[in-house]
Amino acid sequence: MKLDLSEIAHSIGMHYTYEVDEDDSELESSGISLQEHVRGSLEFSNTGQLLLARGWLRATVRLECVRCLTSFPSLQEFAVEEQFALHPERMAGGAHEDGEDLFLPDDMEGPECLYQEGILDLTELIRQNLLVNIPIAPLCSEDCLGLCPRCGKNRNEGPCGCPEEEPGQRLSPLGELLSLLEDEDADGRG
Ligand SMILES: [Zn+2]
Ligand SMILES: [Zn+2]
Repeated sequence: MKLDLSEIAHSIGMHYTYEVDEDDSELESSGISLQEHVRGSLEFSNTGQLLLARGWLRATVRLECVRCLTSFPSLQEFAVEEQFALHPERMAGGAHEDGEDLFLPDDMEGPECLYQEGILDLTELIRQNLLVNIPIAPLCSEDCLGLCPRCGKNRNEGPCGCPEEEPGQRLSPLGELLSLLEDEDADGRG
């Protein structure tokens, strides 16, 4: 989805609010699985040198739990704040027309590919913001029981019947040695 912002890009001081409601298949192809439309509201404003984008986005994405490997819906809601140089060709030289040096923040290198000559790549903006906000190790629930290490059954669906492994009942290496010595003593006496 490309958003034509050329009108606001040519009108200093202008504001424009775009209500986001995207069912974007391009996002799916980049590995993000959407459960429903991405919604939100973005306000664009022209400060003369920058095009600011501020607002929020809400998307329900499908994630895979790192413990039980099931796919689950996860609501992501976050604020968006981006800025794009309106005249990158003037800024590229490092000096303004009237000789004034312009301060160009480092983080403006990335977003520039989102916006070029009045056209904003809304899909890419949504994708980048989603990727930053999606957890690296998603959990279907904080107390997910995960998979049984013996049979692989999803423990959230109920017990699998494998014997419970209780670490307290296992002998430590020292315990094993002591029990061996006890056996030897018993043999000696017998
Ligand atoms: Zn899980
Ligand atoms: Zn099991």
